[in-house]
Amino acid sequence: MNLIIHRGAQEIGGNCIELQSSNSRILLDYGMPLPKKGEKKQKDNARFVLDKIDGLYGDAPTNLKGILISHTHQDHYGMLFEKPVNPQVPVYMTPIMEDIIRITGKMGLQKKDLEATIKPFQKGVPFQVGNFKITAYLMDHSAAEAYAFIIEAEGKKILYSGDFREHGHKKNAFKYFMDTDFGKIDLALIEGTMLGRQDEIEKTEKDIFYEIKHLVEKSKGPAFVLCSGQNIDLITTLGGIADKTGRYLLIDAYVGILLERIKELGLKAGFDAKIPSSIKNYVKVMPLNITKKVAKLGYADAFERVISKEVNWCWIYNNYMKCIVPIRTGSEHWIKHFHGQQDSLFIYSMWDGYLEELKFKEMTNLFKCYGVERKDIHTSGHAFKSTLIKVIKNKKPAIIIPIHTEHPDKYTELFPNVTILSNGVKHKIN
Ligand SMILES: [Zn+2]
Repeated sequence: MNLIIHRGAQEIGGNCIELQSSNSRILLDYGMPLPKKGEKKQKDNARFVLDKIDGLYGDAPTNLKGILISHTHQDHYGMLFEKPVNPQVPVYMTPIMEDIIRITGKMGLQKKDLEATIKPFQKGVPFQVGNFKITAYLMDHSAAEAYAFIIEAEGKKILYSGDFREHGHKKNAFKYFMDTDFGKIDLALIEGTMLGRQDEIEKTEKDIFYEIKHLVEKSKGPAFVLCSGQNIDLITTLGGIADKTGRYLLIDAYVGILLERIKELGLKAGFDAKIPSSIKNYVKVMPLNITKKVAKLGYADAFERVISKEVNWCWIYNNYMKCIVPIRTGSEHWIKHFHGQQDSLFIYSMWDGYLEELKFKEMTNLFKCYGVERKDIHTSGHAFKSTLIKVIKNKKPAIIIPIHTEHPDKYTELFPNVTILSNGVKHKIN
C-alpha cells in the first residue's frame, strides 16, 4: 500500500491525502488551503497541486474509488466547489455533512450548488470503497460533525484522525474513540495544529461558557459574538448562556436552517443533537433579507420552523438589551439598525489569524465607533498537545505521520516513531 500526502504534510489546512492499494485508490479530504497570514487564498496553487491526481477530473471511469470527507470545514472539503471532481468518483460524507456543505455553498462565499456524486456513510458502520474497508468514528471538533477514519486494506490498518479535540461539547465522542480498541494500527495520520500554537491559552468550551456568561450578566446591552455560523459548538454555548441568563439567542435564518437540519437529520439517524433549535423558547430569528435566500434552499419543513421563530424590528426595539447575537463579517449593515450598540458587548470568537483580514478589521472598527472594545474569547477546535500525546499513547501506532501542522518536527520531540513526509512524495506502507 502507498500513501501520498498531496497537501497538508507540513501546513495547516487544504488536506488531500491519497492511499493506493493494488488496483484502487482513495482520497482523504479535498480541502481548500487556508490563507496564510498576509496572503490571499491560494486557489491557483490548490488547483495546480491536485491536477496531477489521476482520474480526479474529467468523466472517465477510474480506479480512484472515492473521496472521504472528514468534516465540514472548508480546508477539508472546499475544493468540491472550487473544482468539482469526476462524477464517477463518489464523495463520502454523512447526510448532516452534506446538508451543511450544500447550505453553506449556496449561502456563503461560493454561491454555488454542490456538484458531486455523494454517497452517505454512518458512524461506526464499516463500508467498502474499492479495496479499502472504512469505519468512521465521530470526534469532538468545532465542526458540527467531524470524523476519524480507520482504513483497512492488505492486512494493514491506518488511522486518519481528521481534526479533533477533547475539550468541546462532543467530548463523549472523543471518549468513545479512545475507549474503542482498534487493534494494531500500522500507521496514524494525525493532526498537529496546536503544536505550532503552544502559546495559545488552553481554554475549554466550558471555560468559554462561563467567561461569556459572566460578561453577559454584567452587560446592560446586547452581546454581539463574531463567529462562524457553522461553529455549532459555540452557537450551543451561546444558547446555553441565553437559557441560563434569561436572554434570547437571536440568530439569522442561515444559522437557523443549519440548526434545524442538524436536529432533524440527527433524529432520523437516532440521536437527539443537544443544540439550540426552534423548540427552545430563547431562540429567535432576525428579520433579514437572508431569510428569502434560505427559503429558496428547498428545506420546506425546516424553513417553516425557522420562520415560526422570526421576530420583527419592533420586538428587537423592546428586547435588544436581552439579546445574544451571533454575527459574521458582512453583518455591519443591520448591526447599524440595532439598538443599544453603545452598551453592547463585542466578542470575537474565531482564530486570531483572521483578524489580519480587512473585513474583520472593519468589524472591529465599527464597534470602536460605538466606543466598544473587542473582547477575544475563543477556544481552539484542535487538540492541545496533552490530548495529542494521550491519543498516540492510547492507540500506539507503529508509525506516526503528522498532518495539518506547520511543525511536524515537534512530534519527533515527543515520539521516536515519527516519519515526516513532504507533499507529493510517495511513501510505501510496509
Ligand atoms: Zn476543522
